[in-house]
Amino acid sequence: MNIILLGPPGAGKGTQARRLVEERDMIQLSTGDMLREAKDSGTEMGEKVAKVMAAGQLVTDEIVIGLIEEKLQGDNAGGFIFDGFPRTLPQADALGELLTKYNNTLDVVVEMQVDDEALVNRITGRFTCGGCGEVYHDDTKRPAKEGVCDVCGKSDMKRRADDNADALRTRLMEYYKKTSPLIGYYYAKGDLKSINGLGEIEDVAALIKTALN
Ligand code: AMP
Repeated sequence: MNIILLGPPGAGKGTQARRLVEERDMIQLSTGDMLREAKDSGTEMGEKVAKVMAAGQLVTDEIVIGLIEEKLQGDNAGGFIFDGFPRTLPQADALGELLTKYNNTLDVVVEMQVDDEALVNRITGRFTCGGCGEVYHDDTKRPAKEGVCDVCGKSDMKRRADDNADALRTRLMEYYKKTSPLIGYYYAKGDLKSINGLGEIEDVAALIKTALN
């Protein structure tokens, strides 16, 4: 089964994708993670996108479509979870073409709805474990021992450079201008299931499960 998790920054796409990976043996394809890896490892492409990402703008369609095509050629175990991709209409068209090219199909697009105020709160307090990627929050989910990951035990907590008020405003604007039209696009194709992404992680996971069945 191949699915897209669609929603604004802070909607919880990454958190829910990680659960699906564990529960269903699916493969998470997060273009944000791929771009951060490229940036951290200092590749030419990584250096090119670093400034754009830090400002909260979208990188070019060509770059992210290229990253996704590479992954679609590999093993797909229990299916792919597209997390943070597609983010523009040309990306959505390209994904459809690539899936056809590699004899695959898109099963469902889960739109995670969260209001703007909640997004801002979620993002400005967010930090993650550099070891395993577990996501924490200053107010709602602190690790049991300060600075130490509950899941993998590493002491390597990180905050994203673009999780600040200025970049977040740009990211939200990019979402409303360029990504939110995908809701209508997938609705018209008959692929869209919308869920309330505001609840506790477990509750949202249950809603996603229902949407996938
Ligand atoms: P994310 O981790 O999904 O919030 O992505 C972080 C940043 O990476 C975004 O603000 C963009 O700068 C860039 N990015 C990630 N995915 C895409 C995409 N599909 N299209 C364009 N830019 C992207």
